[in-house]
Amino acid sequence: MKTVTPRLKYKDNILYFEDVELTKIVKKISTPVYVYSKNQIIENFLNYKSALYKRKNLICFAMKANSNYEVLKIIKTLGGGCDVTSGGELFRALNAKINPKKIVYAGVGKTEQEINYAFKNEILMFNIESKDEVEFLNNIAKNKNKKINIAIRINPEVNTHTISHISTGEEGTKFGIPLYEVKDFVRFVLNECKNLNLIGLHYHIGSQICTVTPFVEATKKVCNLINELISIGIKLKYLDIGGGLGIRYKDEEPPTPHKLINELLKYIPQYLTIICEPGRYIVGNAGILITKVLYHKKVKNKNFLIVDTSMTDLIRPAFYGAYHNIIPLKLNSNNFKKFDIVGPVCETSDFLGKNMLISDVVNGEYLVIETTGAYGFVMSSNYNSRLRISEVMVDKDKFYLIRKRESYKNLISGEIF
Ligand SMILES: *Cc1c(COP(=O)(O)O)cnc(C)c1O
Repeated sequence: MKTVTPRLKYKDNILYFEDVELTKIVKKISTPVYVYSKNQIIENFLNYKSALYKRKNLICFAMKANSNYEVLKIIKTLGGGCDVTSGGELFRALNAKINPKKIVYAGVGKTEQEINYAFKNEILMFNIESKDEVEFLNNIAKNKNKKINIAIRINPEVNTHTISHISTGEEGTKFGIPLYEVKDFVRFVLNECKNLNLIGLHYHIGSQICTVTPFVEATKKVCNLINELISIGIKLKYLDIGGGLGIRYKDEEPPTPHKLINELLKYIPQYLTIICEPGRYIVGNAGILITKVLYHKKVKNKNFLIVDTSMTDLIRPAFYGAYHNIIPLKLNSNNFKKFDIVGPVCETSDFLGKNMLISDVVNGEYLVIETTGAYGFVMSSNYNSRLRISEVMVDKDKFYLIRKRESYKNLISGEIF
């Protein structure tokens, strides 16, 4: 069977992740368990970094894709910053000693408490998304007699041809300021919001985008606008081009960061510092989810494998209809069959994969769900009072626990008795 994950390989019919035989992990740590490859994360980050070497740049990892402390520490060591979307993410980033001057904060609904927290910690900039927000921010700054750095998030209104749940840069979504309103918006900020420093523009058009065209369209539109702003005397320092680059889950062929960035650099003026916010690209193919087969079940013509993981650990199949390749940890059968791989949760949508052609495994053996490093653990829940699972990092021939599995006590720890 073929893997899509670069550092996941069969050797003598057993899967290795980097140089760690996965049987060693499941012997030590109970399933289900997320496992990440440190060296894949590093490689992915450096791919972005090297694509930008000709320009002043800052890579702000979109930590909503994977916010584990150990992952953030890798990003920090490589000189990266973070794109945060909540006070909680900011807390995690600061806790991992990410330099606040490398933190940008996006989101349509920042609360007063979150704004104060970010302001106190002197982050690089707030990416603001509405007139109400900009006035609110200005008042907070005014009351403190200080100035706050902002960038305006623009909705460049391009079609990204991705699934609608994760498309953010089309007409009529809640994100950003529509392109045709931006000039007026800029004037409003300059004239009415004396406690704000407008230092950049921002756009993020969606996720899992596998062609350069929408990125180019958006960049052209925004850079045209930047030139128009120059003609009315406004010179910005930062252009934040967001994230959204797609990865291979099955047979997609997304452009490399190098190819993408090279296309975009044609339109971006030299004097700007370019901020990138990749999330999925950095961690997606650096993660797998190992699960144990509990039972086989046959209903009419359908074969089910019931496993110990579920939509509470990985919601992407149920939520987005997303595909993840699923393969056995050990190949010891040539009996290939089609299976629906489902979890124990009381929902019909609780599946990990449908009609997956895989070699049969006996109960008690393990399956590996690929490409789960992004939007996996971070979207997990306690539904059905299931425990959030452990996370492990592999580094060459070593592996170590980076998050303990929750206990039943954790489940009720916030409740009042
Ligand atoms: C989610 C998000 C990202 C990251 O998107 P990916 O598709 O994971 O690269 C970047 N910027 C913003 C503002 C986001 O909301």
